[in-house]
Amino acid sequence: MQDGYRHKGLRKQLVSGIREKGITDEGVLKAIGKLPRHLFLDRAFEEIAYEDRAFPIASDQTISQPYTVAYQTELLEIKRRDMVMEVGTGSGYQASILAIMGARVFTIERHKALHDFSNKMFEKLGLTQIRSYHRDGYKGLAEFAPFDKIIVTAAAPNIPNNLTKQLKIGGVMIVPVGPSEVQYMYKITRLSADKYDYKKLHRFRFVPFLKGTVD
Ligand code: SAH
Repeated sequence: MQDGYRHKGLRKQLVSGIREKGITDEGVLKAIGKLPRHLFLDRAFEEIAYEDRAFPIASDQTISQPYTVAYQTELLEIKRRDMVMEVGTGSGYQASILAIMGARVFTIERHKALHDFSNKMFEKLGLTQIRSYHRDGYKGLAEFAPFDKIIVTAAAPNIPNNLTKQLKIGGVMIVPVGPSEVQYMYKITRLSADKYDYKKLHRFRFVPFLKGTVD
């Protein structure tokens, strides 16, 4: 599969749809306009890859809906050179958006098959600055902490306090929290060594944040 004029045209439409849904961060919109989403999906989805929907990927997981990617990324207020940890690499699409925006991305995935697939995507797209780890995201990446930003792309049953501890003071974490049926997006800001601000935002539905790794 290649990236052609037709795909570019479909991406333009996707970007205007996401803009209409309320996303205003031009950096996010530009990155979505650039990144060939169809390459992250099975060939069977090529025709519908630019619909604003989630799709199945390997290991029974999903690539997030583009609006959801845009929503979470906008909340992160990405600046160039930000150290960003992503939990739940999945297809690698979200990590690629962050990298295109100039972030230094550290991403963690529990499924080996997805870890391998996304690494190939990063190479194919020339996004070799993304560092990716096949590990249990519940533990975060203590050796690289603290991070400016943390994004969790799987549904956490509770606020993962182990991860909030890996934020810089002033750092922000975006995480969907709640049981499997429905979650609310939280924006958590680390105010000081032991104080956090918690903002409960809109409803979403993600695949679950699970413990351990799968080979
Ligand atoms: N950000 C992804 C969306 C992936 S769906 C994308 O852009 O495509 C969520 C991912 O989180 C799944 O791949 C799932 O395997 C992963 N995940 C769930 N629990 C995890 C954990 N404890 N550590 C790392 N990854 C986890």
